[in-house]
Parts: sequence; C-alpha cells; structure tokens
Amino acid sequence: MIMKKTSKIAYRRAGACSRRKLWKNKTWFKDLLLFVLLISAAFVLFLAQRGGGEGKTVEVWQNGKLYGTYAISTDRVIEINPHIGLEIKDGSVFFADSDCPRRDCLRAGAANKAGQCIICLPNRITVKVRGAGELDGVTG
Ligand SMILES: [Zn+2]
Repeated sequence: MIMKKTSKIAYRRAGACSRRKLWKNKTWFKDLLLFVLLISAAFVLFLAQRGGGEGKTVEVWQNGKLYGTYAISTDRVIEINPHIGLEIKDGSVFFADSDCPRRDCLRAGAANKAGQCIICLPNRITVKVRGAGELDGVTG
C-alpha cells in the first residue's frame, strides 16, 4: 500500500510538471501566431499599396488606340475581329480565341486585378484592367 501511495504522488507531480510545460508551449505558440499575423498583415498592406486592388473596368487597346472600355462585372464576349475574341467572365478578362502563331495570349490566363494586363503581341492588342481609384489619372 505504501508503495502504491508514493507512486501516485510521483505520478501527480509528473502531471503537474508536464501541465506547466504545456502552458509554456502555449505562450510560445501564441507569440508565433502573433508574429505570423503581423507578417501577413504587412504583406496585405504591401500588396494594397502596389495597386493590386479590385478591377473595375477593362480597356482594350489595338495598335495603340483605345478599342473599347468595358465593365469587368458584366459577362460578355468582345469579338475584335473574327479571329480574336476576348471574354469577360466572373470578374476576369482573358483571351478566348486568337489566330496568333504562338498563342501566348491564350496561355497567359485571366486578369482581374487593377494594374494587370494581358497582351497579344502579334495582333498588337493590349488589355488593361483598371481599378476604381485610377480613373482620375487617365487622360486622353
Ligand atoms: Zn496572341
């Protein structure tokens, strides 16, 4: 019986000790979490300052001339000519069809953030996404 009692006490002591260790680990984890949150907040601010905001309008330029401006929120197909088609869908713009030899523009994917642009060099077409705040600076 005496042996059993002492082993119980020893077990309790060990339990208290490990609980304290666990608490220490928790505070360390909290510090890490705070650190990660601060880093991600800084990263988001950095991205916002770079103008990667939400796109509002799509500008299509052909041979250096403005072909048209479209709202990015409205789904539509823009047929520049029978061989080149742009598509605006779910707030993104992308080349849906092109007859250019390498078809890099088709592979370029979609643009949806302010400041992004996709181009088709052989057809001299540039598609720019503009944000809401940028409109004031556009002249000509
Ligand atoms: Zn192309």
